[in-house]
Amino acid sequence: MSIESQTFTERYDLLGCIQCGRCTGGCPVTVRADLNVRRFVYDAYNEEKLEELARLAEIWDCTACHTCAVRCPKGLKPLEVLLGLRTMIVESGKVEPTVRDALQSVLLEGNPWEKARAARSDWMEGLDVKIAEPGVPVENLFFVCCTIAYDPRVQTIAKNLVRILNKAGIDYAFLDDSEICCGSEVYTLGEEGLFEMLVEDNTAFLNEFSATRLITLSPHCFTTYRKQYPDLKMPVLHYTQLLEELLREGKLTWKGDLQKKIVFHDPCYLGKQGDVYDEPRQLLKSIPGVELLEFDRRRERSLCCEGGGGKMWVESTSKKERLAETRIKDAKELNADIVAVACPFCVLTLEDAMKGLGYEEEMRVAEIMELLGEFVEA
Ligand code: SF4
Ligand code: SF4
Repeated sequence: MSIESQTFTERYDLLGCIQCGRCTGGCPVTVRADLNVRRFVYDAYNEEKLEELARLAEIWDCTACHTCAVRCPKGLKPLEVLLGLRTMIVESGKVEPTVRDALQSVLLEGNPWEKARAARSDWMEGLDVKIAEPGVPVENLFFVCCTIAYDPRVQTIAKNLVRILNKAGIDYAFLDDSEICCGSEVYTLGEEGLFEMLVEDNTAFLNEFSATRLITLSPHCFTTYRKQYPDLKMPVLHYTQLLEELLREGKLTWKGDLQKKIVFHDPCYLGKQGDVYDEPRQLLKSIPGVELLEFDRRRERSLCCEGGGGKMWVESTSKKERLAETRIKDAKELNADIVAVACPFCVLTLEDAMKGLGYEEEMRVAEIMELLGEFVEA
């Protein structure tokens, strides 16, 4: 296994760690897996131990929720040590077949779902979608996301958004089949070389468009473009920020009402990593009849659904209750009718947990766009 020329100690500023344990104390997966991130930060200081550490199964339990980074009083990013160890495994070629296939699919088809590049915009069929052209000025350029583009369960997010944008009459355009993965999961799975290639390709590609701003549908693309694309020439927003702006400007109106109790689950990549907490709530509150509830663990303290950090392609080492199940049970205790989310991964993990618990008859998991799409005036 090769290690990058910079040592772990230098790269992750390990000498800055005071071993206070706040990272492990806040880590949500400690309740179900043997992951002690503080210990990894300590042990990684010993370069001779790195190969042994990289072989520990729990490095794959991290969901990249960033709670440890938010809580570290020294401003370190403890999770990056785990991702660095994953990189060592990826470089050695000894990854799980599911991970290998996902990474290869990104390289060959521009998405981790092993779907054809040419089918990326099939979701647009039958819709009146404006397509971006390089050099033609556009105010809001939309980036859809691999999961939303290909997974029928969450394609509704994009479809409803198009209907709402057309209704609001704003200047927008979507990318066609030429859109490729932002690399969020590639990065957290530890494939640094492929991630760097995606950053270079996507930066060059997106900068060709004369867009005022880039709007992402997934919080994972949102955080990745904002934080890991230093040369991108446009600011990046999540769609909830744009719609909240349209709501304030009176450009969105809803028909009918929804007499339901809704609790909003803060996605890690939107909240903890993006500081976007109020806009999704404002959108939900704007639907007439909605009673908005709150989880005890919300906003910065929100519980992770375990959908990020490449976990869609890696089985957990634990057989204990999944965090998504805990979340659904919390919602049940609140008597919520709907668990609303603003992330495709949260939809998939929480809905799966809800079905597994047998709550389908009494509860629903819905992305905010699914709900708003049902109430947009035709
Ligand atoms: S929170 Fe930061 S300083 Fe404290 S043990 Fe973890 S990495 Fe070290
Ligand atoms: S990113 Fe989240 S899951 Fe990973 S070590 Fe940090 S707190 Fe734990």
